Amino acid sequence: MILLNPGPVNLSNGVREALAGPDLCHREPEFSDLQDSVRQRLLEVYGLGEEHWAAVLLAGSGTAALEAMLTSIVPQKSTLLVIENGVYGERMTRMATVHGIACRRVPHAWSAAIDLKAVAQTLEEQRDVTHVAVVHHETTTGRLNGLARLGEICQAHGAQLLVDAVSSFGAEALDFENSPIAACAGTANKCLHGAPGVSFVIARRQALFSSAVAPRTLYLDLASYCREQDKRSTPFTQPVHVLYALAQALEEFGQEGGWRARHRRYSKLARTVREGLQSLEIEPLLSEQETSVVLSAYRLPAALGYDALHDALKARGFTIYAGQGRFKDNLFRISTMGAITSGDIERLLLAFRELVPLRASLSGAS
Ligand SMILES: *Cc1c(COP(=O)(O)O)cnc(C)c1O
Repeated sequence: MILLNPGPVNLSNGVREALAGPDLCHREPEFSDLQDSVRQRLLEVYGLGEEHWAAVLLAGSGTAALEAMLTSIVPQKSTLLVIENGVYGERMTRMATVHGIACRRVPHAWSAAIDLKAVAQTLEEQRDVTHVAVVHHETTTGRLNGLARLGEICQAHGAQLLVDAVSSFGAEALDFENSPIAACAGTANKCLHGAPGVSFVIARRQALFSSAVAPRTLYLDLASYCREQDKRSTPFTQPVHVLYALAQALEEFGQEGGWRARHRRYSKLARTVREGLQSLEIEPLLSEQETSVVLSAYRLPAALGYDALHDALKARGFTIYAGQGRFKDNLFRISTMGAITSGDIERLLLAFRELVPLRASLSGAS
């Protein structure tokens, strides 16, 4: 089955084989070596140094990393500003609310770009905001939210960024050194091509060990994970085999040329999908400039319901992904993450051509 959903992704043979690695106790030095190497390689993805940055590994999906990031870094006495332009931004507001973190929102329509004026105005009015949470790649729509200008605005107001990079880490540019990113959350089974079960937070050490933050949860307290992992230990059981797979995935990631190579590869596949679907008059929700290379959202052809399209493609070996929430009935999504090839995408387009009868062009002879 070719997975075109935004994670979990198709695994390479090497990653799949790594899952069958030897049984190992997480209190043994072999585990510590594995943990050290994964943490080190995660920092290397964006060339970060261990002195100022830490990669903290967590058992759990990307949401665990996000909840750990928000609860462990925002001080008790400050306010979090959440930028919402899709499901994942709105979910961060819910996390903050659940944990009693004082929170302000900048809501947007799901298909809208971030309104930087509104963000600046809120920061102007709300002087107790110390952190701004934003989704880098809003997987709801495929929109890549630009962080450069937003970072400048935050910096001007003394606020730091907390980034949901769950579906962009490893395939889109992230400028850690020149932007006020305090931390970002990522996961093994999206752009890094690992297996589901491990996620991580990349954080400035200064932000992790701030004395202004008291733990809000026991299990998701990043400072205690980081302290233990720095000592080559772990507070709780880690999914050992999933970490073998992530180590192998990071090895292959490096061999293939790192995030820039992955960006180019996704970009090529995504463009093939876009052009192929447009030739069938299936239009993307957003322009190519606004969209990540990781996933695009498309308008469902009028004649075809989502379930029928999904089931027919699944019968041909492809899993596509529905729109979320209010987009359930009018969008579908296609991701190009994972160990898939341009041949897989060509076959996908052939399947679409069978399913979507080409409507006569209304534009005449042109
Ligand atoms: C997939 C995703 C998540 C949630 O990740 P899970 O692994 O399902 O918990 C969070 N944010 C974004 C932007 C995502 O794409």
